[in-house]
Amino acid sequence: MKIICIGRNYAKHIEELHNEKPKEPVIFMKPDSAVLLKKNPFIIPPFSQDIHYEVEVLVKINRIGKFIDQKFAHKYYDEIGLGIDFTARDLQSRLKEKGLPWEKAKAFDGSAVIGNFYPKDSLDLENIKFQLFKNDELVQDGDSSHMLWKIDELIAYVSQYFTLKIGDVIFTGTPAGVGRVEANDVLKGTLEEKEMFHIKVK
Ligand code: ZN
Repeated sequence: MKIICIGRNYAKHIEELHNEKPKEPVIFMKPDSAVLLKKNPFIIPPFSQDIHYEVEVLVKINRIGKFIDQKFAHKYYDEIGLGIDFTARDLQSRLKEKGLPWEKAKAFDGSAVIGNFYPKDSLDLENIKFQLFKNDELVQDGDSSHMLWKIDELIAYVSQYFTLKIGDVIFTGTPAGVGRVEANDVLKGTLEEKEMFHIKVK
């Protein structure tokens, strides 16, 4: 499986990182080795002093597709989840400055938290409420209605470049409120008030 991530999909997060609003979605990928194994803690890697959490709504692809028309995109997924796109922000800033690829800052081992999934039929996809708590304090409060590109638009866009396969996961971008993690932090993600993941930082 592969992980396709969308950057800059929420206006307020673009502002907080002083990024430009893109004309089309920003895409990057993580390999399957980036997935944090279930029940494992997230270990802060030695190459970064500024690891950030980014809570994101996830879409799990359930059939193979390429050049998917937006109006048929809903047939390519039936589960919605929640995860974290861990980012080595210091390294990413250095790479961005030089115009280099972000992989070392975004795709390292353990950088993709994939929590539980729920059937999409039980959700209002245009208004998914999701939250991230750090040590029981609310740090990110998201609503899919604020996405610049909606899930079906993202699937249509991404599939022009990459064949989507069963089990692939799309990270749909983070809302505002990203911040640093430290050893011993506990991160809990909720979607429509249901706990989707719970991880310790080491
Ligand atoms: Zn992200």
